[in-house]
Amino acid sequence: DPAVAEQTRRVLLAAPRGYCAGVDRAVVTVEKALDLYGPPVYVRKQIVHNKHVVATLEKRGAIFVDETYEVPEGATVIFSAHGIAPEVRDQARELSLKTIDATCPLVTKVHREARRFASDEYDILLIGHEGHEEVIGTAGEAPDNIVLVQSPEHADTVQVRHPDKLVWLSQTTLSVDETMETVRRLKQRFPKLQDPPSDDICYATQNRQLAVKQMAPRTDLMIVVGSRNSSNSVRLVEVALEHGARAGHLVDYADEIEECWLDGVTTVGVTSGASVPEVLVRDVLGYLAERGYGEVETITAAEESLLFALPTELRRELKARG
Ligand code: SF4
Repeated sequence: DPAVAEQTRRVLLAAPRGYCAGVDRAVVTVEKALDLYGPPVYVRKQIVHNKHVVATLEKRGAIFVDETYEVPEGATVIFSAHGIAPEVRDQARELSLKTIDATCPLVTKVHREARRFASDEYDILLIGHEGHEEVIGTAGEAPDNIVLVQSPEHADTVQVRHPDKLVWLSQTTLSVDETMETVRRLKQRFPKLQDPPSDDICYATQNRQLAVKQMAPRTDLMIVVGSRNSSNSVRLVEVALEHGARAGHLVDYADEIEECWLDGVTTVGVTSGASVPEVLVRDVLGYLAERGYGEVETITAAEESLLFALPTELRRELKARG
């Protein structure tokens, strides 16, 4: 009976979802810099890994570049939330750029750990994805001491110089479970491997995964709003599938949802990555409501209230200008 099916269709909406404190701070940094200096303001790399955010800031006059040398001499450049290797700071100095560092403080924390362990002559196993901007930045802090471990399988073969003086660190946006599996396998080979002083996988990544784990077993289809290059968003789809969601898709926008995904689907799970503005989630909920999935139940896995102060350089300027 289609009428009965209609009644039971619903959405489980994850909480927390969307913006984390580091993304909020990075996006506001670009907005305030545009207000303060007027366009153009240069940003090295995507400020956060979200298509919509980048397009919106571009319209307001932000210019995104891949390399520091693309910024005209003397101009203002903002470093993205993912962090930078020290050499990038040197390049900016050579070009007399005015810099604003929007690196998330939780990434900066990992950089500090890397520097400290390297100066104590540890070998560091950095668990993360090769080529990701955050990994390039963190590895740049101690290139001679850091070896990248990309997966649990890679843990079985990775080589180190000093198995007796060894610590692991990680990218902030990994799958918690997969990382623990990588560490377990590393410890089989390197029993003296030390844990980081505190979690490197950040609170936002952990909480978004926790909510998805709670929802997934009740979900026929999980829709994660986020961009392909957003590590934490991609992980949410994987976590959903591992924990019982029958299908899972990542979309930037509601119009990327395909009607056929909804065939035979009663319960749709919805969440969004840490770089995703809430308006994009609203659009997805609107799309689903039009197709009979009007009932929305929020699944709350954690409460978040963290906020970060804006970068010091920017606060100083804002204060000076009253
Ligand atoms: Fe910072 Fe975590 Fe957000 Fe990355 S996902 S910007 S580490 S709070």
